[in-house]
Formats: sequence, C-alpha cells, structure tokens
Amino acid sequence: MTLKRTKSHYFKILFLLISIFTISCSWDRFVTSRVNESTTIKSEVAKDLLNKDKITIVLTGTGSPLPSDSIQNSTAIFVNGKFLLFDAGDGVAMAMEKLHLPVSEIGAVFITHFHSDHFADLGEIIDRSWLLGRQKPLTVHGPKGITDLVNGFLKSYQLEYYYRTKHHGEAVMPSQWKGAKTNEFSPNSDGSSKIIYEKDGVVVYAFFVNHVPIEPAVGYRVEYKGKSIVISGDTADSEFLKKQSFGVDYLISEVMNKSMIAKVENAYASIKHDRYTKIMKDIQLYHIDATELGNLAEEAKVKTLVLTHMIPFVKGYIQTKAIYKDPIQKVYHGELIIGHDGKKIEIPLP
Ligand SMILES: [Zn+2]
Ligand SMILES: [Zn+2]
Repeated sequence: MTLKRTKSHYFKILFLLISIFTISCSWDRFVTSRVNESTTIKSEVAKDLLNKDKITIVLTGTGSPLPSDSIQNSTAIFVNGKFLLFDAGDGVAMAMEKLHLPVSEIGAVFITHFHSDHFADLGEIIDRSWLLGRQKPLTVHGPKGITDLVNGFLKSYQLEYYYRTKHHGEAVMPSQWKGAKTNEFSPNSDGSSKIIYEKDGVVVYAFFVNHVPIEPAVGYRVEYKGKSIVISGDTADSEFLKKQSFGVDYLISEVMNKSMIAKVENAYASIKHDRYTKIMKDIQLYHIDATELGNLAEEAKVKTLVLTHMIPFVKGYIQTKAIYKDPIQKVYHGELIIGHDGKKIEIPLP
C-alpha cells in the first residue's frame, strides 16, 4: 500500500516536471517567434516607407481637442527617405509605434500652432525616437514660441534622459542625440510662403493661416519632384490657405460642420450650461466649415482633399456622408478622402 502511494506520488511529480518543461519550451518558442515577427514587420514597413520612388502620407492622428476615438492631430510624410512629422497631438507617439512606423528615423517635426491638441506628445516623440535608436539630430520647426515649448519639454525630460543613458550606457543611449533643437521662424504676414526646410530636393514652406485669436498659426506645403501636399493646420476659411493650395495634389485640411456645432451650442443653451454654450460658440469662429472647405478646394483646383481634425468626430457611413461628404461634394468635384487614424496614401513619383 505504502509502495503504491509512493509510486503514484512519484508519477505526479514527474508529470508536473514534464508539464513545466513543455510549457516553458513553448513559451520560449512563442516569445522568440513574436520578437522575430515584430522585427520583420518593422523592417518591412520602414523599407516600404523610406522607399525613394514614392511619397507616403500616413494620417497618424485625425482627432481634435474634443473627445473621440481618434488620436489627436498629426500627419506623417515619408519623402525621399525622410520621415517628416506635422503636429504631435496626444497619443501619437504610441500610435506610431503600433503602426510599426520607423520612429527612430524622424528627422524633423513641424508644429502649426500652440493649441495642445497639436503638440501634447512632442516630448514623447523627442524621447521615444531617441530610445528607439535615433542617431541623428531632430529639429522641431515652428513659429515664434517653438523654442520655449521645446525647451520646456527638454527640461521636464532631463532626469529621463539621464536615467536612460546611465542605465543602458552611452553606446546604447548616446547622450549626443537626446533631445531636439529648434528652428523658430516668422511666417510672412502677407500670406506668401517661406522656405523653412530644404534637403535633398525636399522643400517645406510655411505660410500664415487665419486661426485668430491664435497667433502665430501656420500651414505647411511640402514639395518634391513636382508633387505638392498642403497641411492646413487649424484655420478659418482663408484666402491665404486657398492661395497656397492652388493646384496642389493633396490638401490635408481640418474641417468643422458648423451647423452641427451650432446645434450643440443651442442644446447647451437650452439647459443653461453657459460655459459649454460659450465654448461651442467661440470655436465656430476659427475653424473652416465643410461647405467653405469644399468651395476653397474647388476654387483652388485641389486634386485630392483629405479630411482630418474633424469636428464633430463621427463614425459610420451614414453620419460621415451627411456631415462631411454631402456638403463638400455638393461644391467640390475633385477626389475626397475622409481620413481616419492610420490611413496611408501613396503618391507614386515620376
Ligand atoms: Zn486643433
Ligand atoms: Zn487650434
């Protein structure tokens, strides 16, 4: 009886050890295959985006300050092997990693203005690009105020930089490449554009937009090998934006359906919520309405209009059609793309 019990005990322990060994072997295989898979995807995505035969736009964030399912505003443009990022709203650093974008390759960030939905993640982008292996300088371009903004982030990340290099060593986290430098510029007040970046045939212009009372506020135009892309930043209907968008291949623009926001304003007024009533009224003054944007794009002969920073944020075919597609397509006859986070647009080059 005792011998039987001992034998059964022995087999139980043996079974347990075999199970632990099997599970640990399969965990090893699982982890190794996940690491291989993710490394392969990242290098394939990087190879594709840094391909010099095309320009790729990635809508890294299509949201606004109002709560939505989208990451706040940001657009990545991959051109001639360069990774340029326009605006850096909240959540975009992690979103870019989830999209497997080559974050360590970011060489320049362009900020349109100093509403936080356009820069909240700038500190993370400067830091994560370095942690992930950036071994070149990062320049943050922006109108007057950009140096103070970047210096504020650099100061608040001082200990983070110190800890990383101390822990992993100079070879892995070279302090030479931590942080970022700035290029602060003043846009021309007459609405004409100004070159603020020029490298290997890629030119980025900045121009003044009308986001009053927010000043300075700029839009950007990227040109390479005869292709042109305008990024509106935040703006009300603006002759400057129309002029700068004339004949462009892509206009990536903010948009608001003002009749919907007026309804929201009225709803708050009806329940005597003075604070939100006032905010909903004010924001209609410095954004561009869907119909105004459709007219602007039509008059400027924009080839493709891409919507981002949509206020209100809507989901699904029926709402999107009623709130953005219909009013715009009533007046604009070019191609219309309703943006969403992660949307990729490829522009083949001649
Ligand atoms: Zn905004
Ligand atoms: Zn704004």
